[in-house]
Amino acid sequence: MSNHSSPNEQNAEHRVDFAAARKAAPLTWFFERTLGAKPKLMSGTIRYHICPDPKCGEASKHSVKVSVQDEKWMCFACRKHGDVIEAAALFWGVSIRRAGMQLLGTDVSQIASYVPPKAQPKVNRDDEVLAFVIQRLVSNARPLDMAVVEYLSGRRIPEVVTREAFKRGLLISLPSEPNRAKDYLFDTVGRDALVEGGFMKKDGKAPAIMFRPLVFIGHGMKSAEFRLARPKEPNEIKSLRYGSAVPWAWQGPDTDRIMITEGCIDLLSAVALGTKRSIIALPGCENWQPDWFLKLKGRNVLLALDNDGPGKAARERLVPILKEIGAQVGIYELPPDAEDLNEQLMLSN
Ligand SMILES: [Zn+2]
Repeated sequence: MSNHSSPNEQNAEHRVDFAAARKAAPLTWFFERTLGAKPKLMSGTIRYHICPDPKCGEASKHSVKVSVQDEKWMCFACRKHGDVIEAAALFWGVSIRRAGMQLLGTDVSQIASYVPPKAQPKVNRDDEVLAFVIQRLVSNARPLDMAVVEYLSGRRIPEVVTREAFKRGLLISLPSEPNRAKDYLFDTVGRDALVEGGFMKKDGKAPAIMFRPLVFIGHGMKSAEFRLARPKEPNEIKSLRYGSAVPWAWQGPDTDRIMITEGCIDLLSAVALGTKRSIIALPGCENWQPDWFLKLKGRNVLLALDNDGPGKAARERLVPILKEIGAQVGIYELPPDAEDLNEQLMLSN
């Protein structure tokens, strides 16, 4: 099919039957047969890894960027959206009219044999979009917000450690001023992805994460924990975590000796306290999987969980598992006045 259009055609008076053009070429068919994209069946929508706009193009490996629902598409990356005619116009680099005419010429027999993909039943939170949101926040990370740096300094985590964590992609920040954070989230991630990723309700005004500018990114960017960068008020929720349960990881100068901490603040506190060990931080002392530790066979592992009821209970369950795997297990002794590593750091000189 030629992309040339003669001046006569451009100026043709007869109207293009766009409704017929939409009918002639289902949107998913267009993505699959013309763009060569494979459908990914999600809850409530179909996703594709390629955007009809060649300037936006394909998403990086294993990820998807375009959502298709009810004969409409939307690209999370460039935010372009529309129906099959708008997709075709972008892809072919032609006018809407011209795209409509070309779609009208679609071979009917091709469509007859086409079985459209079926979306999975809808659920509220969508891991794929969540992954997209986290990736988006990390790859567009702004310079660290000074209120976040100062909050961590207040917990005795030196700025140099905070900045190193930022460099390693373990920690990012949103603007600490909530309205600026909201604008930033809407600009960078987009409202649709925030809704689909479970960060806000469809009819909501703003996502609750806009008040939580300190963001810890889980291993493999599979989770994000958004925290207040100030002491919490009574009845306020300190942190909101999204994504799968994955640990945070820190590679220290010593990769044979490992420390296990509870949460990312304790991970940073351990670094600040001077450990050379590599660190695995559990998202919570109840929140871990035995298979996270399979690689610790033969390693020296120091358990540095909180010195409270849940911490001790988790220790009792973890020690036999680590021994079973073949690790040498030690228990870190917190000073008497400290419940966790950050309290130890706060008490230190
Ligand atoms: Zn796009």
